[in-house]
Amino acid sequence: MKNSKECPICRGSTHFLANYCKRCKKLIDRVDMRAKINKEARIQALKRAWDGNSFRCYYTGIKLVENNHKDPLYLTFDHRIPRKEDDIVVAAAILNDMKSDMDENEFKAIIFQLAEHFKGKEIDEKAFEIKFWKR
Ligand SMILES: [Zn+2]
Repeated sequence: MKNSKECPICRGSTHFLANYCKRCKKLIDRVDMRAKINKEARIQALKRAWDGNSFRCYYTGIKLVENNHKDPLYLTFDHRIPRKEDDIVVAAAILNDMKSDMDENEFKAIIFQLAEHFKGKEIDEKAFEIKFWKR
């Protein structure tokens, strides 16, 4: 069709005067109370998260919910390294909340220690030395 083109994120139909489809534009322009996140980083994160049918969480691979901000699987933008604005991934709200002010490796280390602790092992307190923690 002459009046439409392809959305560079989801490859859905886009009005020929628009850069992105309505769905993706809404996600790019979303007002995010969690963090200041730059637009180009959001676009790249959305492209990486798109599996051909839906957006998937970077940390879990779970299919994300786009329209209900109260759902634990709501699509959010996460700084892979806290406050580093150009390194963004798409993550489920619940994972983003759990990750808090940790970078990806700190988050994984803490989750690993917790999982081992829940199985009865002693926790390694070094996992709580979080360099990006800010309270
Ligand atoms: Zn799109």
